[in-house]
Amino acid sequence: MKLVFATNNKNKIKEVQALIPESIQLLSLEDINCFEDIPETQETIEGNAVQKAEYVKTKYGYNCFADDTGLEIEALNNAPGVYSARYAGEQRDANDNMNRVLNELKNKTDRSARFKTVIALHLDNNLNTFEGICSGTITENKSGTGGFGYDPIFQPDNFDITFSEMNSETKNSISHRGLAVQALITFLNNI
Ligand code: IMP
Repeated sequence: MKLVFATNNKNKIKEVQALIPESIQLLSLEDINCFEDIPETQETIEGNAVQKAEYVKTKYGYNCFADDTGLEIEALNNAPGVYSARYAGEQRDANDNMNRVLNELKNKTDRSARFKTVIALHLDNNLNTFEGICSGTITENKSGTGGFGYDPIFQPDNFDITFSEMNSETKNSISHRGLAVQALITFLNNI
């Protein structure tokens, strides 16, 4: 089955490709000649995932899934949430975003946080959503060189290293996106 993953983020494609059964041929947006910015204008993570999947299905005609992820920090009333990518400005710079988070948590004792991913799947004429959550804490400093985004400052529960210091196999097995993808795979294996 051909299935579009509505992203051009090579990190995400690599992570998900490792988790998808071989019978499913995963296509990127580039593979279907989609080079436009897909609208992400909703106010929830779920809303954005659904918006992206529906856009690709309607405009390009492919079965498609789209994901949207946010980092929710308890002491910041669940910010940055849906604004995670552009928390420190439209330049969408991971270092700037992490610096803003570390600054805002300077005097806070509660550093608990969670990553939330929602995957929306548009298959034929049905829409299904799958959620994955990974709880942890925001570290005092950045650690590690792997991964992307907020990985250097996020330490998942039951680990004493950040996402950035983990190999991708370990991260995939516990991460928000890994869990949401597992739920998607379970669904796809049962249709
Ligand atoms: P997106 O919805 O996957 O594009 O993610 C939104 C924001 O969350 C971006 O700034 C990403 O860098 C960040 N993000 C998403 N997934 C992860 C992750 O696994 N680790 C760290 N940051 C992430």
